[in-house]
Amino acid sequence: MLYTRSSQLFAEAEKVIPGGVNSPVRAFKAVGGTPIFVKSAKGAYLYDEDGNRLIDYINSWGPMILGHAFEPVVQAVIEKAKLGTSFGMPTELETQIAALAVSMVPNIDKIRFVNSGTEACMSAVRLARGFTKKDKIIKFAGCYHGHSDSFLIQAGSGAITFGSPNSPGVTAGTAKDTLLAKYNDLENVATLIEANKNEIAAIIVEPVAGNMGCIPPNKGFLEGLRQLCTDNKILLIFDEVMTGFRLAAGGVQELFNINADIVCFGKVIGGGLPVGAFAASSEIMNYLAPLGPVYQAGTLSGNPLAMAAGLAMLQALDADRAIFQRLEEKTAYLAAGMEEVLKANNVVFTINRIGSMVSVHFDADPVVDFQTAAKGDNETFKKFFHGLLQEGIYIAPSAYETWFITDALTYEDLDFTIQAVDKVSKTF
Ligand SMILES: *Cc1c(COP(=O)(O)O)cnc(C)c1O
Repeated sequence: MLYTRSSQLFAEAEKVIPGGVNSPVRAFKAVGGTPIFVKSAKGAYLYDEDGNRLIDYINSWGPMILGHAFEPVVQAVIEKAKLGTSFGMPTELETQIAALAVSMVPNIDKIRFVNSGTEACMSAVRLARGFTKKDKIIKFAGCYHGHSDSFLIQAGSGAITFGSPNSPGVTAGTAKDTLLAKYNDLENVATLIEANKNEIAAIIVEPVAGNMGCIPPNKGFLEGLRQLCTDNKILLIFDEVMTGFRLAAGGVQELFNINADIVCFGKVIGGGLPVGAFAASSEIMNYLAPLGPVYQAGTLSGNPLAMAAGLAMLQALDADRAIFQRLEEKTAYLAAGMEEVLKANNVVFTINRIGSMVSVHFDADPVVDFQTAAKGDNETFKKFFHGLLQEGIYIAPSAYETWFITDALTYEDLDFTIQAVDKVSKTF
């Protein structure tokens, strides 16, 4: 396959957009080469500017769980656009999607819509701090909660010290309020809590991690976090931006029957438009302005295009709960097929999977946290990525990303992918 027009377009983009992209991972820095410019997409396929068709395993990083240009979403957006795209005033549509979300997700009474997952997580943490009147938060290394300052933190010098900024522009003052823990390590969390008695407002966690490959929680990890939070008057924030409306209609809270105090959404909830949301009990949510003292706002929050797309998406998922079972079966089929051919070709690998999230790691050891995810052989990953691309298969251009399976994929697509993995892994 040729990517000449994409290369030209990237060169043009680099002149006027930093790095040629509006979000860094799109730039292919981790795998080399130049990014592919998309012209259109339908169902499971992307069509690029060079006329190639690619089977898409990213799906806009998650939202397109029912495939690209999903007809009910497209229709809803077209209809609403004709009636005006934003008013900065309430619409009935906002109540409709809020009511549906509250009915699908366990353990929440109220939800507020924002424009991105970043905003959702940032606002959830502010709410938790205001509500508990405490300042510090615990986050886990390798978990991603968007790019707001409090989350751009790396490990400090000692295990129990404060975090330090991992981007210029994040102040030391902000970093000192974020403590970094190891995913799947309850003892580490307990130690942090003990060392910061009565200072921790919230623990924020991806209840199934998806930003260091796919890492499901160890048995007892989420239950343990719940207990530690309850015992220490800490709010437990589930960042379900990736897992919400994907692993189950009610997300990980439903899947593992564990209650979080605040839940963050993004990706699927917007049906492909810019939407995020955060939700909790009435008691917590009523602490937000205009009812309560914690301020949070947005000019375009809840705009009719975004809400129409999100509502059409949630309605489709709500009407056909078997979608989640179908996705599980397709993903399990893909994972088993890849496992078979990788083994047959003597490749050293680990495949992690839960529901419709799957990741391939080029390392023999179990991948359970950031450290073990970082051990994977990136040279092999690069060959894997570019090999699959040549076969017309698009996976994320970084070894730290999860594949998102869409219901639009057919078993023929999956078989084609498994054959391509077989062919490519013979060249390692
Ligand atoms: C994508 C993601 C975010 C950030 O969402 P944006 O819409 O990109 O701001 C936050 N948390 C998790 C778990 C994510 O996967």
